[in-house]
Amino acid sequence: MCSVFEADVDTNGLMEEKNRQEITGKMCRKCSQVKADVNLRVKDAYCRECFLLTCTHKFRAELGKSKLMRAHDHGLVAHSGGQSSSALLHLVWAGLRGHSHKKLFFRASVLYVDEGAVLAQSLEERRRICSDVRERVEKLGFPFYVATLSSALQRNETSDPGSELRVDPGADAELSNLVESARELTAKEDLLQKLRNNLIVSVGEHLKCTKVFLAENCDQIATKILANVSLGRGAQLPLDVGFCNNLRSGMQILRPLRTFSKKEVAFYNLYNKLETVTIPSLQTKLDSHASIQRLTERFVAELQENFPATVSTVFRTGDKLAGQRCHEADESCALCQGCLDTKEQQSSALQATNFSRLVSTLGPSGFAGGSVEASPAAGNVRPAGDSCECSGRCSPGVSRQDVNHALCYGCRLIVNSMAVLDHLPQNVLSTARKKVALGEMRKEIENFLL
Ligand SMILES: [Zn+2]
Ligand SMILES: [Zn+2]
Repeated sequence: MCSVFEADVDTNGLMEEKNRQEITGKMCRKCSQVKADVNLRVKDAYCRECFLLTCTHKFRAELGKSKLMRAHDHGLVAHSGGQSSSALLHLVWAGLRGHSHKKLFFRASVLYVDEGAVLAQSLEERRRICSDVRERVEKLGFPFYVATLSSALQRNETSDPGSELRVDPGADAELSNLVESARELTAKEDLLQKLRNNLIVSVGEHLKCTKVFLAENCDQIATKILANVSLGRGAQLPLDVGFCNNLRSGMQILRPLRTFSKKEVAFYNLYNKLETVTIPSLQTKLDSHASIQRLTERFVAELQENFPATVSTVFRTGDKLAGQRCHEADESCALCQGCLDTKEQQSSALQATNFSRLVSTLGPSGFAGGSVEASPAAGNVRPAGDSCECSGRCSPGVSRQDVNHALCYGCRLIVNSMAVLDHLPQNVLSTARKKVALGEMRKEIENFLL
């Protein structure tokens, strides 16, 4: 137990908490004509009109500075009905109907992903939420599409989203079994996020979209950066948090709200009278220690409250990271489509982690004297993460180890938290099978290669 008490700590060297400043009587820092209505940071007090203008300018500058958008582009706006999604949709709508040189030129469609199967919602409730979201989207004149999250499991088949919610009870049960098979909430949340991303990309490709818009704000991106590092997804950080990701298919994923804080989004919605739809998640009403993502979210929320500059520092740091790109399909993870980061190199963090796991599993007697290799007697013992409760029956022709070879480090952690692999998406199992067959073929012909 730590024997240092709060009174013993010298707080002189620590960062000071934000000095809470009153907004009463302050003038707008932009026009200096009217009293401020919103105080974003210590020196950022704006009147309502200037605040809305700043938001619009920020959004357009984000899209405009990289000259990414072209007149023939078709953008798919992923919309959950929540705060950030509603703000993004309104900003896109306002941009498309703007005047003269300020007008954005592209075609936009909206996709809503129904996750009711995982949240155990009744069909009536799912239909009601979907029609609420559709009503708000169609009021702005955008074509509306809805897809159930369970259709992400059939990625090889054509995803055909419609404007009505079509529920397939069999596919819903498959999805629910898959999520339930993961023991920890952290793995469940991570898995859902990957499936959601896969589905959005797959629908985007089906609708021949050139861009996909995600509504993640600065707070959400900072949370994702810290949570991803904790989840062993550091190698894929630039793909998960960058402003623009280029996919192999040529489609680009954009995050135009990444410089907006949660507070800015809330004020933008309030001033524009935008109604949002509240949809519960797996973490709703759970303790902040329920999962790594939930704990990180609370940490970032507290940082934003007391040290707002730190959140943007985290976000900006993530922005500077560059990752390797995988150019071939067999270099990417079968579950998250990120680059495989599991090539074990000398003195790498992965090698150290695997060695530590092996030592914990085998114990001191499992090693040959003076060597770090497992002794022959311990040859049949597999590290903890590789053990499977279904004793090799998890899927015909593919073992847990084979599945792990097709996955990145972060996705291996998800799969390792599952007791059985029966419920994994078919494309993951078939990729694992293909890798095994390819490896065997390579072994057979290696003596004949020059
Ligand atoms: Zn003003
Ligand atoms: Zn992965």
